[in-house]
Amino acid sequence: MNKELINVMEEIVTTLVTVSMLSPDYQTFCQCNKCRNDIMALSLNTLPSHYVTTEEGRKLVFEQLNTNENRKWINKRIISAIHTVGKYPKHD
Ligand SMILES: [Zn+2]
Repeated sequence: MNKELINVMEEIVTTLVTVSMLSPDYQTFCQCNKCRNDIMALSLNTLPSHYVTTEEGRKLVFEQLNTNENRKWINKRIISAIHTVGKYPKHD
C-alpha cells in the first residue's frame, strides 16, 4: 500500500481544533468552514511539521507528539489562532 505524505502534526491539530471549537469557551466564535480552515492554517504555520510516509511511522510519531505536555503548547497556538481569526474573519 503506497501512502501519501502525512503530516502527523496536521492530524493532531485537526483533532485539537475540533475539540477547542466545540468547547463552551469558544461558542461565540464563528464555526464556519472558512474560519476553521484559517485557524488550521494559522496554527500549522507556527508549528513544526512531522511528515511520515508509512502507517508504522504515523503511529510512532503520533504517540511521540500526542503527549499531555505537547498538547498544552499546541493548544496555546490554536487558541491564539482562534482569537486572531475571530478578530479578522475573512468574511462579513
Ligand atoms: Zn467564519
